Amino acid sequence: MMRGGVCKHGHDMTPRNTYTNSQGTRVCRACVRASRKRYSAKHRDEINAYLRRWRSGRNGAAAARLPKAKVIPYKTPIVDGPPSAESLARLEQAMRAVML
Ligand SMILES: [Zn+2]
Repeated sequence: MMRGGVCKHGHDMTPRNTYTNSQGTRVCRACVRASRKRYSAKHRDEINAYLRRWRSGRNGAAAARLPKAKVIPYKTPIVDGPPSAESLARLEQAMRAVML
C-alpha cells in the first residue's frame, strides 16, 4: 500500500522506518513515535499519578529508581541481535505507562 513512498505524514517509508504490525499493516515508526509522544504528553498527569502509586507499592524500592514519566523515551526496537538491557528497560517502562 504505502510501500516505497512516504506515509500520509510525509515520512519516508524505508525498511528501517517501517514495520508490519500484528494486523499485517505497514506502520511508519516516525508516526508511532510522534503518536506516543502526543499520548504521553497529554496523559502526563495520569501517568505520573500511576507511577507514584506504583512506587509506593511493594515494589517501591526498585520503582523509586525510575525517572518520572515526562515524555516516554520509547523507541520502537530495530532488532539485529538480542535486545539490550537498555531496550528491555525502555520497553518495560513504556508498557507500565500504558497499563494505567
Ligand atoms: Zn509517518
